[in-house]
Amino acid sequence: MTEPIPDRLRHNFVAGAWATATGSRTNVNPADLADPLGEFAESTAAEATAAIDAAWAARTGWEAVGPIERAAIVRRAARLIEAEAETFAAAITREQGKRLGDARGEVERALAIMEFIAGEGRRLNGITTPAEEPRTLALTFRRPIGVVGLITPWNFPLAIPVWKVAPALVAGCTAVLKPSPLTPLTAALLVDAFDRAGVPAGVLNLVQGDRDPGAALVDDHRVAGISFTGSLPVGQAINTAGAERLLRTQLELGGKNAVIVLADADLDAAATAIVHGAFGQSGQRCSATSRVIVDRSVKEELLRRVVDRATGLRVGPGGSDGTDLGPVINDVRRDACLDAVDRAVTAGATVRCGGGSARVQRDGRPVDGFYVEPTVLSEVDRDSELAQEEIFGPVLAVIDCDGFDQAVEISNSVRYGMSATIFTTDQAAMFQALNVLDAGMLHVNRPGVGAYAHLPHLGAKASQLGAAECSPDTWNFYTDLRTACIRY
Ligand code: NAD
Repeated sequence: MTEPIPDRLRHNFVAGAWATATGSRTNVNPADLADPLGEFAESTAAEATAAIDAAWAARTGWEAVGPIERAAIVRRAARLIEAEAETFAAAITREQGKRLGDARGEVERALAIMEFIAGEGRRLNGITTPAEEPRTLALTFRRPIGVVGLITPWNFPLAIPVWKVAPALVAGCTAVLKPSPLTPLTAALLVDAFDRAGVPAGVLNLVQGDRDPGAALVDDHRVAGISFTGSLPVGQAINTAGAERLLRTQLELGGKNAVIVLADADLDAAATAIVHGAFGQSGQRCSATSRVIVDRSVKEELLRRVVDRATGLRVGPGGSDGTDLGPVINDVRRDACLDAVDRAVTAGATVRCGGGSARVQRDGRPVDGFYVEPTVLSEVDRDSELAQEEIFGPVLAVIDCDGFDQAVEISNSVRYGMSATIFTTDQAAMFQALNVLDAGMLHVNRPGVGAYAHLPHLGAKASQLGAAECSPDTWNFYTDLRTACIRY
């Protein structure tokens, strides 16, 4: 989006109208600090409460609409987004920094999710079961849980809000979306599309801002469920705050995802997948490859291939032709990446490529943005910070192992369990890996990233809590089952 940002999109959206918040924040294009995005609403807890008021008032009417008509509205919103796909992609690139091609891919993914969820609206089924008495029908059916709070991060500013908003609305919940303060524009475009698609007033509300409005959603007893995607510490804080009132939470958290490369692996395929998983979208994916666990016998051969590919990547503005890798989201993330590299080197790791800020030019002139070089470190101790903690940037830790069992043990040694990948030509190792790797999303001989609308998006251990997102499993968060026994 290079054209001026419509003023309404800078505000909250409550009870069917764009509403000014008392506070504001100024955002900037992370790829070019000379390109300000201007001011966006920064809401208070009271402004979040006003949005909950609207969602609470709308919930009975929305449930009465029924899933087929609700899904039709989601489909209409999808058609608007499809028609305006370039506006959405440009906004994602401008405020989040990812490559325009990746932003277009995110729009496609959001549309696939909306198509799938809208279709599933016709299958919000229960079951019929035998009854214990004669002339009795026993069955289950689903009810929406009520008002939901949807709290989202900045790394997929369209797809993640979509995979919460679409099922919430089709299920019959009313919602308050609280996106990341770093990507308010994409969220506002999404809510605007739903408004134009005919969502009734109060059914979908948008509250911009950070912790205060987010915590207000968690604390309000009228909010029946919080679907949260973000970091582990914030997820823990939400779960703790909601525990006393038995708040239903769906927490999609961080990752420290490994690609295991065994001695018999296709090293070219493994290196290509590793570079894609580690440096695609600047490593800012929950499923990004951040560890390689490689059999010592092929370590140098693999490293040569990975480093060759990584040093060939072009870092630059997401909107420029030929860019492979955009900036990271802000100075905090850039400094976190660079500091983590410094500490890893102090702890004994070796920088094989990268390790610093990237200098970037456009049209022959330097561009000031939050650029980090694709960085590969080897000889990383399996228990060190770089091997255990999520860095969330283009920084890859390479750890040595001896054989399958040790590789699995190292892979499982982190507290996270989002995705895990193995490269091997041994069929027994492939299938055994599925049994023993502690991760929610498993990959064999392919990149450790990527998701489908119809497959559950899930993690093990500290990467996830509650019902999975995407796929029909999503109804387990947004709806409750009821049983009924009817004597006739
Ligand atoms: P974050 O945890 O800092 O923020 C996430 C959201 O929570 C934001 O909207 C923020 O404003 C809000 N928030 C902050 N404090 C809050 C509080 N006390 N109560 C309620 N809301 C609060 O995460 P981030 O930096 O935006 O995103 C990066 C993180 O997200 C990484 O850890 C990444 O792995 C994770 N992530 C996970 C998935 C997944 O599906 N598991 C997908 C994408 C990103």
